[in-house]
Amino acid sequence: VIEIGTPEHSVVTTCAYCGVGCSFKAEMRGEELVRMVPYKDGKANRGHSCVKGRFATGYATHPDRVLEPMIREKHDQPWQVVSWEEAIGYAASKIKDIQARYGQGSVGAISSSRCTNEEVYLMQKIVRAGFRNNNIDTCARVCHSPTGYGLSTTYGTSAGTQDFDSVEESDVILVIGANPTDGHPVFASRMKKRLRQGARLIVIDPRRIDLVKTPHVEADYHLPLRPGTNVAMLTALAHVIVTEGLVDETFVRERCEWDAFQDWAAFVADENRSPEAMEQTTGVPADLVRQAARLYATGGNAAIYYGLGVTEHSQGSTSVMAIANLAMATGNIGRRGVGVNPLRGQNNVQGSCDMGSFPHEFTGYRHVSRDEVRETFESLWGVSISSEPGLRIPNMFDSAIDGTFKGLYVQGEDILQSDPDTKHVSAGLENLELLIVQDLFLNETANYATVFLPGSTFLEKDGTFTNAERRINRVRRVMAPKNGYADWEVTQLLARAIGMEMDYKHPSEIMDEVAQTTPTFAGVSYALLEEKGSVQWPCNETHPEGSPIMHVGEFMRGKGNFVITEYVATDEKVGPRFPLLLTTGRILSQYNVGAQTRRTQNTVWHEEDRLEMHPHDAEQRGVRDGDWVKLASRAGETSLRAKITTRVAPGVVYTTFHHPLTQVNVITTDFSDWATNCPEYKVTAVQVSPSNGP
Ligand code: SF4
Repeated sequence: VIEIGTPEHSVVTTCAYCGVGCSFKAEMRGEELVRMVPYKDGKANRGHSCVKGRFATGYATHPDRVLEPMIREKHDQPWQVVSWEEAIGYAASKIKDIQARYGQGSVGAISSSRCTNEEVYLMQKIVRAGFRNNNIDTCARVCHSPTGYGLSTTYGTSAGTQDFDSVEESDVILVIGANPTDGHPVFASRMKKRLRQGARLIVIDPRRIDLVKTPHVEADYHLPLRPGTNVAMLTALAHVIVTEGLVDETFVRERCEWDAFQDWAAFVADENRSPEAMEQTTGVPADLVRQAARLYATGGNAAIYYGLGVTEHSQGSTSVMAIANLAMATGNIGRRGVGVNPLRGQNNVQGSCDMGSFPHEFTGYRHVSRDEVRETFESLWGVSISSEPGLRIPNMFDSAIDGTFKGLYVQGEDILQSDPDTKHVSAGLENLELLIVQDLFLNETANYATVFLPGSTFLEKDGTFTNAERRINRVRRVMAPKNGYADWEVTQLLARAIGMEMDYKHPSEIMDEVAQTTPTFAGVSYALLEEKGSVQWPCNETHPEGSPIMHVGEFMRGKGNFVITEYVATDEKVGPRFPLLLTTGRILSQYNVGAQTRRTQNTVWHEEDRLEMHPHDAEQRGVRDGDWVKLASRAGETSLRAKITTRVAPGVVYTTFHHPLTQVNVITTDFSDWATNCPEYKVTAVQVSPSNGP
């Protein structure tokens, strides 16, 4: 279906789906993409790929793409197609008018982890230097913001510690809250190869994911904890390590803050935090937890890989710090085969965080209150910048509802579908005077927009993506933008229209500015990327070739910091009306809300979202495999078909969130991580009952 002719030339670029960051040769005939061929010299994938990267590019030429800008006075009026000049002029005049009437802080923007580093950098620049506030946030808010908080607090920066190659030297692999087979398939293959060679495996997940038992791979321990109890589980593991004398004291004394370690050790050693004391909370037999802890601490090189099952909780940041504590206590940091590795979901989550698109941080995770950092940008941009953090995404909706936030520019994200508590999001969007949506398609969020700016695909632009191992990969333009402009050019047009001086001729000039202002990127340039193929930050004078492994010899913050991680139960409780706990995940063939993967020609992939239920829970409710069921929570309800399976334990149900008809976020709550407001997508109390369908 994909092969449409004989290629005439090829361009090496990077997959725009997940955080593995596979390299491909886009084989072209004229302006037509013939096929995507996995690139054998790609350092993240070495010639491998999954079905999405290889075959799911049809959305780039799908007739649903909107290629002309549109405006309207109110969001319930029909769209009017206009020229780029008119659309940009209209958006700019609205921004100025709103700020004149409601103040500088009444507008903001949300950047996208699907866009390039250079595009994200421009988004934070237009907000800080153009809107003159810090109301810039990224869709990483709703996935890995706790990684940012947790790893910065313990290790000094927000990034995975290892390269992918490192797994080849792991003796023990601990996977918690991640499903690499579906979410990060090419890296999962490398992990499985190492497991087939004899590495031991611990899986901590409420659901029996494929990795627990798949051909030639079987987990030594699967700890099927109750959703929402990660911190209790991680603390119980730490209790065993401390009380059974399994701490690597030499490492801790040399590399970590000793006082902080002692406080932490005393905390976790308390009998109330033993596996036996936590058994009731986690639902996992204490003996299993003890054995898993011993294996992690004594089995040789031990590496932890985690995903959104760790971060998307009310204690997401606490869990990340609990993981970081475990690795430090056992000396599993700073060499090959070990480490703490967040598996990033979107192609450029790492990059969108690195590029300063958080309301409290500039590029390189430097707080806006730091005078010397602010002065760097102020002198370069010729403006003063507020030392106060701006609004986070949920606060933007709150402020829109209370009438103090009036204008929002959203690039490459369907916030109405992907953010939790849909009613709250729509109430906020409805109250805006200006919503600019820049996207490939008229998504659900665009229903509330008054300006639509057509977006460009990864095939139509130059730039870089940074993958889960901090690898900066080149994205190369293989065809002209069908809408006329790459996304970074659109932001530049808007910046000029509101009065900013901005004249980048090519994204390489934007990366040069990142390097000029950001110590961890000081050595990065397009010339270096051409020479090396890719490079992992930190890349600077100290690490001119980049850094495959971080925290070698010394943590980024100096000494590693142990943090006390008290388990606090989520406020989302089961009860007679909502007795089951819903948790969510993804399948290999689909990508997030499916905007791209559903617009491919491969109909076999277009699986609907199903609700996995244990046979016991299904029987109690008279539900059979394939039946339609109503899934209801305190926030709302939706309908989908049931899949009866023992993958989930009694009392737990599970679904994916790919299909717009399901709209799972109608039922998720507005509870969020205490430190970062990352939504608690992974725990919702629900009831399931038979239904006749939507
Ligand atoms: Fe793309 Fe991820 Fe698949 Fe690689 S593993 S081809 S980056 S979706």
